[in-house]
Amino acid sequence: MPEKFDCIIVGAGPAGVSCAYALAKAGLDVLIIERGEYPGAKNVMGGVLYRKMLDDIIPGFYKEAPLERPVVEQRFMLLDRESAVTFSYKGLEWGREPYNCFTVLRAKFDQWFAQKAVEAGALLINETVVQECIVQDGRVVGVRTDRPDGDVYADVVVLADGVNSLLAKSLGFHKEWKPDEVALATMEVLKLDKTTIEERFNLEPNQGCTIEIFGDATQGILGTGFVYTNKDSINIGVGALLSGLIKHKLKPYELLERLKQHPLIRPLIAGSEPQEYLAHLIPEGGYRSMPKLVGHGVLVVGDAAQLVNSIHREGSNLAMTSGVLAAEAIITAKELNDFSENILDSYRINLLNSFVGQDLKKYKAATHHFERFPQYFEQYIPMLNRAAGRFLTVDGTPKKEKQKQLVRQMGTVGERFKIARDILRAWKVMKG
Ligand SMILES: Cc1cc2nc3c(=O)[nH]c(=O)nc-3n(C[C@H](O)[C@H](O)[C@H](O)COP(=O)(O)OP(=O)(O)OC[C@H]3O[C@@H](n4cnc5c(N)ncnc54)[C@H](O)[C@@H]3O)c2cc1C
Repeated sequence: MPEKFDCIIVGAGPAGVSCAYALAKAGLDVLIIERGEYPGAKNVMGGVLYRKMLDDIIPGFYKEAPLERPVVEQRFMLLDRESAVTFSYKGLEWGREPYNCFTVLRAKFDQWFAQKAVEAGALLINETVVQECIVQDGRVVGVRTDRPDGDVYADVVVLADGVNSLLAKSLGFHKEWKPDEVALATMEVLKLDKTTIEERFNLEPNQGCTIEIFGDATQGILGTGFVYTNKDSINIGVGALLSGLIKHKLKPYELLERLKQHPLIRPLIAGSEPQEYLAHLIPEGGYRSMPKLVGHGVLVVGDAAQLVNSIHREGSNLAMTSGVLAAEAIITAKELNDFSENILDSYRINLLNSFVGQDLKKYKAATHHFERFPQYFEQYIPMLNRAAGRFLTVDGTPKKEKQKQLVRQMGTVGERFKIARDILRAWKVMKG
C-alpha cells in the first residue's frame, strides 16, 4: 500500500463510493476503507434507488447493476385500525428506459457499486475500522485504523461513514444527534414467490410497487411504515423519530410486528418466510441539523452530513450527489495543490445550491412541525378514515345530510377552526 494517497474515503456506502468512483476516474489515488466484511454487509435501506443520480455517474448502470424491480407504482396509505385511505400513482413509463427508480437489496447493490470504483482504479480495504482522523496543525492529514501499523495518510479525507458519523463528531463538526434528529427503523426481508408477489400487487413481471404507510403503522407517532416489492422477496419496515419512540415507550420491533399483523397488511405478506432482520438509524434533522461540512483536508458527505429528505424517502441519491460534488472540489484542490478549507468549501456551496440543499431547505421546518403537533398522525388520519367510511357507506341517508354529519363529526366550531388552522400550517411548512 502506498504511504500516502490523494484521498482516503471512510465508508463504502453510496456517498463514499460515488466520491471514490469520480476521483479514480479523474486519475487520483483513492483508498476506500470499509468496516464491513464487504460493502453493503452492514448497510440498511428500505430499498428504493433513484435512477437519475447514479445514471449521471455511470450512464446506463441499470443494464448491469443487481437491481430488483423498476418501480411502476407508488402507493400511500393513511392507515387506521381496520381501514385505510389510499392514493397511488401508477405509470407504465416508469417501467421503461430511462426509468424512475428501482427496488434494491443493499448487500448486493453496494458490492457491485464498490467493484465499479475498484475497476476505475480505487483501492478498497474491507474489515477495517477507522478509529480517528489524524490531525496535524489543525489539518486532517490521514486516518488511524484498527489494523497493526494502521495509520494511513492523504491530502484529503472524506467522511462517508454514515449516520452516526463518530469521526465528524470527534472533529467537533457536530454534537451527539438529539432524539428528534434521528429516526430508528427496523425492517425485514421476507421471501415470497415471484408469481404471488405479482398477483398480490397487480404487477407484470419486472414491475415493482412501493407502499408508504402513515398513521397506525407507527401508532400515530411521527414516522412511516413501508412495503416494497423485490424480485422474490418483500421488504417491510417501520421507522419513527427516536424522540417519539422514547416519549411513547414504543419499541421499533414491536411496531414492525404490529404492522405485519395489521389486517390490511397481513394478506400482502401471507405465506412469506423471514430471510433477514435489520435495524438502522436514519438522519432526519434535515437542513437545520447539517453539521460543518468542510475543514482543512476533510469533507463530510451523505448520511454523515444529515443529507436525507425524509418527506420524499430520498437518501441514497442525496448521498451520491454529495459524493460527486465532494470529488469535484477535491479535483480542483488537487490542481491547485491546496487542500485548505477555503478551497474545499466549493463543495459546501455547490451542495447547498444543488437539489440536495434546496430540497432540505424547503422542508427545514417539516419534521419539527409534525413532531410538535402530533394531531396530524394521531387524530386526523383516523378522522379522515371515519369520514371516508361514512361518506361511502350507502345507508339511505341523503348526501346533503351526510355532508352535514361529516362536518359535525369534526367537532365544535372551535375544533373545526383548529383543524383548518392546522391544514394551513402544514401547507406553509411543506411549501417551504
Ligand atoms: C430503513 C431505512 C430505509 C431507507 N430507505 C431508503 C430508500 O428507500 N431510498 C433511499 O434513497 N434512501 C433510503 N434510506 C436512506 C439511505 O439508506 C441512506 O441515506 C444512504 O445509505 C446513505 O449513504 P451513505 O453512504 O451516506 O451511508 P451508509 O450507506 O450508511 O454507508 C456508510 C458506510 O460507512 C461504513 N463505516 C461507518 N463507520 C466506519 C468506520 N469508522 N470505518 C470504516 N467504515 C465505516 C459503514 O459500514 C457503511 O458501509 C433508508 C434508510 C433506512 C435505515
